Amino acid sequence: RKRRVQSDGIPEWKRAGQPKGQAYGKRTEMTMKQQRESLPVFAFCDRLIDAVRQHPILIVVGETGSGKTTQMTQYLAEAGYANHGIIGCTQPRRVAAVSVAKRVSEEVGCVLGQEVGYAIRFEDCTTPATKIKYMTDGMLQREILLDPDLKRYSAIMLDEAHERTIATDVLFALLKKTVKKRPDLKVIVTSATLNADKFSSYFDDAPIFTIPGRTFPVEILYSREPESDYVDTALVTVMQIHLTEPAGDILLFLTGQEEIDTACEILYERTKALGPNIPELLVLPVYSALPAEMQSSIFEPAPPGSRKVVVATNIAETSITIDHISYVVDPGFVKQKAYDPKLGMDSLIISPISQAQANQRAGRAGRTAPGKCFRLYTEAAYQSEMLPSPIPEIQRQNLSTTILVLKAMGINDLLRFDFMDPPAVNTTLTALEELYALGALDDEGFLTRLGRKMSDFPMEPSLAKVLIAAVDLGCSDEMVSIVAMLNLLNVFYRPKEKQSQADQKRAKFNDPNGDHLTLLNVYNAWKQSGFSTPWCIENFIQARSMRRAQDVRTQIIKIMERYRHKIVSCGHETDRVRRALCAGFFRNAARSEAADAGPRCYKTLLSGTPVYVHPSSVMLGKQAEWVIYHELVLTTREYMRWTTSIEPKWLVEAAPTFLKVAGTGGTMSSRRKHERIQPLHNKFAGEDDWRLSAQRKGG
Ligand code: ADP
Ligand code: MG
Repeated sequence: RKRRVQSDGIPEWKRAGQPKGQAYGKRTEMTMKQQRESLPVFAFCDRLIDAVRQHPILIVVGETGSGKTTQMTQYLAEAGYANHGIIGCTQPRRVAAVSVAKRVSEEVGCVLGQEVGYAIRFEDCTTPATKIKYMTDGMLQREILLDPDLKRYSAIMLDEAHERTIATDVLFALLKKTVKKRPDLKVIVTSATLNADKFSSYFDDAPIFTIPGRTFPVEILYSREPESDYVDTALVTVMQIHLTEPAGDILLFLTGQEEIDTACEILYERTKALGPNIPELLVLPVYSALPAEMQSSIFEPAPPGSRKVVVATNIAETSITIDHISYVVDPGFVKQKAYDPKLGMDSLIISPISQAQANQRAGRAGRTAPGKCFRLYTEAAYQSEMLPSPIPEIQRQNLSTTILVLKAMGINDLLRFDFMDPPAVNTTLTALEELYALGALDDEGFLTRLGRKMSDFPMEPSLAKVLIAAVDLGCSDEMVSIVAMLNLLNVFYRPKEKQSQADQKRAKFNDPNGDHLTLLNVYNAWKQSGFSTPWCIENFIQARSMRRAQDVRTQIIKIMERYRHKIVSCGHETDRVRRALCAGFFRNAARSEAADAGPRCYKTLLSGTPVYVHPSSVMLGKQAEWVIYHELVLTTREYMRWTTSIEPKWLVEAAPTFLKVAGTGGTMSSRRKHERIQPLHNKFAGEDDWRLSAQRKGG
């Protein structure tokens, strides 16, 4: 049986889930105005504005879906706050920023990007007319770097504060200072959870405004035994609900795109196999890489007689609200970045959620009517294995990007920086060390000229360094393309029934030296085709992703030009590209072990951790002794994603303060000795905390 794949590469099951547009428009009985006025926050509009007038900082707490994000910015604008500045609203997630801005522009009745706009990394959808601006917290953090007083803004809403992302945490501290200098600036901190006391006491006892929720009881059902395969159990549960439970939509939480796509496909096939006598089940995926048009279809009601199941990442926990959900299926997991001290870097891992998150998920079932939540874990696991609330990002992620930004703002005394929850001293030290090795900080922990240049780029320090190194090595044109491509979530399209055909096409782009140059080949070939979409389809390349890469590339070029970094091409001398990559990613070097049977094992240079070439890499089965990788992904084992072969001497050239050739005191006299490159960082670790004392002096 063959499956139809449409010309733009969207498989049939995804299309099937899309409501058929206009037909349902008529079912929306409420006008936009009525919808707005039916939200719980509406009754509090005047009191909210009074409170904002009276206090520089206000904490607002309200159930998810009460209207905080979409309404409060509009209330502020209606109260006159848009007359002398912009009303900014931050979101931890890009998708939420875009989706909410879109919704609010519809409510306001303007074209997106005019009065209501958004800004996310590499994408600015605002104009001088923009009065309400939704943005990621990371974007506001960059703006505050350039303008500490945020003069363009009259009010800032730090939304989803309960998520406690690093950028929001940093903004807490920075805005707390800004408000003292600018009494006219209004700061509103909103949270979906009730532990707002902590926010209040941090913000010098700022008042808490509570919007009472309208919620219905949710019955919680636990698994009797621990589940071994949560995806499979989740799918069985969804089908059971669909076949046996009364009307009402289903929300299933999974951890990431691949899992969600697979789950959706299976659900689609299973309902189809049951034949035409069972009610229709619309299957809708939601994750950040999903194109915006498909995302907005999740808000459409299911046609009469059918049911909709939304399969979402954590984004549906609080960031976006879908009405009419009566059943929640919660496997209890989330994919999140976590700092792995053993590897000395972040990796994405699937980990259990906290009790607060579990309750938040369950609450999604009781917004419009009583509901049920199926927890695919035991009650004992909930009680004893889950933390009461999630650990703030700042205490579990690499801090080098954040510290570079703070240093660039002249904040040197990190120990006395007013964090709501300070990061661990060790994490801070590792980040400082990383920045030092990259040449961004000097011996005393102060920002260098290179560090200043690196902070101009809105990306992790190692990528910024790579771009700057590429200018010196004469390959910045190539590197900008590679960095833009690395920013993509999907490049290659590999449908299950056409895998070998897709792989054949892909092989044409393969570069023997690795994935980075392969990405460059894809970009260049697409450019040669005249940026053609049919070319993408023919070559099993994701056209949407390529267009995004092109946008990102343009943005990076703009930054390069603004700071007078030359865009130069190295032509066929692509070794330069690999050398430039080493300048930023020397920490991610690995050396191959003698290969017996099975996949070739590498050991990381820093910690000797066994890592493997990702199955999708062109380096799979190659004999490269030394490689660097972009990131590690942990699935069944630790895989290196985006891997490139390198010469070990490039590593030492790239980071002379960080790596040395063993036994030669760091000099490069004999080629053979390159084989014994050692990290120097262990040497520093035992010493007095020199960098921290430098902070004290500097602060
Ligand atoms: P909160 O921020 O308090 O969680 P929101 O302002 O995000 O609440 O949402 C308020 C209401 O607006 C929700 O009931 C949701 O259904 C609706 N809504 C939000 N975004 C959209 C959208 N893109 N399309 C349709 N309805 C939306
Ligand atoms: Mg919200």
